[in-house]
Amino acid sequence: MAARVRALETILTQKGLIDPAAIDVIVDTYETKVGPRNGARVVARAWSDPAYADWLRQDATAAIASLGFTGRQGEHMQAAFNTDETHNLVVCTLCSCYPWSVLGLPPVWYKAPPYRSRAVIDPRGVLEEFGLTLPKDKKVRVWDSTAELRYLVVPQRPAGTEGWSEDDLAGLVTRDSMIGTGVALEPEAA
Ligand code: FE
Repeated sequence: MAARVRALETILTQKGLIDPAAIDVIVDTYETKVGPRNGARVVARAWSDPAYADWLRQDATAAIASLGFTGRQGEHMQAAFNTDETHNLVVCTLCSCYPWSVLGLPPVWYKAPPYRSRAVIDPRGVLEEFGLTLPKDKKVRVWDSTAELRYLVVPQRPAGTEGWSEDDLAGLVTRDSMIGTGVALEPEAA
């Protein structure tokens, strides 16, 4: 795959269709400047501000953009709120669609065929492998990302965080908790 990508990039460069320097800037942006910290800020705001949480529920694209997180692969967003009754899990069964603007680049396992197929066939089994055992009576809802629509899971706010600042709350929000393969950290972990 790496060789194919290199070959494709070489041909496109030779034809003058792409500028390698511009590609480097895009890769650097998503590797070092955009990442799960963005999504953690969105979740922490939703935990702290009920009006923002409502906005996020109704128009995630606008609510997320209001914090400055816009751009490629984040043009159309939907938030999936975990509750006592329902746990949400995000996958792209077709390829690797992922909300770059809030989570950065996807982890390797997210793009791998085993995760993509098994997340829909056996979500509880997949979650067990991530170390997450859900109560039997909790529903698991799986969201299949597409090129048009990307999902952000809003994990439940951990108990014992009353009065915490948004900055401190954001520190509890892991990348995996926003994909649904994890939950937010407990206060002791911060
Ligand atoms: Fe995809």
